[in-house]
Amino acid sequence: MAKSSSEHLIAVNKALKEAVTRHKQGIQERGQSSILVSPDEIRGTYDHQRNLLTSLGNNGLRPITQDDLAVFRASAKIHGKKAAGGITAQRMLDTSMPGPRDRAHREIHTALVIRHKGGLVTFQTNAGPNSKVRRHMVSVEFQDFEDMVVAPVEAKAAAGRLIKGKLKIDCNCEDWRYRLRYIATTGGWAAGPWFEHSYPKITNPLLTGCGCKHVLRVMTTIIASPTFKAQAVKLIEGARTAVERVAKTRTVKQMKADVEKMQKETHRQRRVTTTADKKAERERWRLNRAMKAGVADAKKAAEDKARKQAAKDARTAISQTKKAIKQAQDLADNPRTSAAVRALLLGEIADRQADLERLGKK
Ligand SMILES: [Zn+2]
Repeated sequence: MAKSSSEHLIAVNKALKEAVTRHKQGIQERGQSSILVSPDEIRGTYDHQRNLLTSLGNNGLRPITQDDLAVFRASAKIHGKKAAGGITAQRMLDTSMPGPRDRAHREIHTALVIRHKGGLVTFQTNAGPNSKVRRHMVSVEFQDFEDMVVAPVEAKAAAGRLIKGKLKIDCNCEDWRYRLRYIATTGGWAAGPWFEHSYPKITNPLLTGCGCKHVLRVMTTIIASPTFKAQAVKLIEGARTAVERVAKTRTVKQMKADVEKMQKETHRQRRVTTTADKKAERERWRLNRAMKAGVADAKKAAEDKARKQAAKDARTAISQTKKAIKQAQDLADNPRTSAAVRALLLGEIADRQADLERLGKK
């Protein structure tokens, strides 16, 4: 199983500063790009003189055609209807692609809360083994946070509802930037402040997937980690005692303690998986149990049968022995029987009676 680690942890202010620098750099690079396509162009104003390229159809890069634009429009429309007002962590996992899910499971070991302000929580994850950077930031805006703070239920119950509720999400990795932020923006679950409206015509022309491996690890943590659940309870309790939402960060010592707690969580609490996979697994367990129970039942029936047969055999042996004793006794009692034969018969009777005694004890 993938292990949690804490070597990528640094002071939160340093990590946030690094994230701000990366964000500014990304926005600047984007500003200088000449290959972005706007929603208006996708709608129909695209000028083919621009000669922008797409990878649609998987035959390398080629100039965008009218047909491509129709595909982009249709895909954008489908995604636009998907999840207005946010997306649940479970749905994010359920609609994710197997590749990022598997990488989230194997490569991304920790998703730690490093900062929170009301329902806006910043998670930090380690980066994958081939990454240029050490860590990523995933922002999650819990849409139901204020509702759950004010709800007249225990903080624990409120936190339980919070983690099942709708979220808005952002990650500062390149997968999110080039392939997925557009999907999050059209789908209505982008947390910002970077909202992407330029269609990923080269990197993700069919708009597949929804979460990068960092986001999928964070979603798993939100749904299944008892360590995070305890933190969510505290967030709600904290917001119930203070009316002003101020940003709070965690110390490296606190984060290391969180990592230790998460390391002790079970495989089932840490694996990145979908509802369908979990259901299939439960079905396998059920069949396994049924099979084991079936084997046990068959064994018990065989034992019962053997026991019954043994009892029947014993009864038959007893009655036959009794019959043999009676015949021997009759012969011994006969006056014409010689003394020598009678002695043999009495010896025989004694042996059979010993047999009878043994059979009776069984
Ligand atoms: Zn990411």
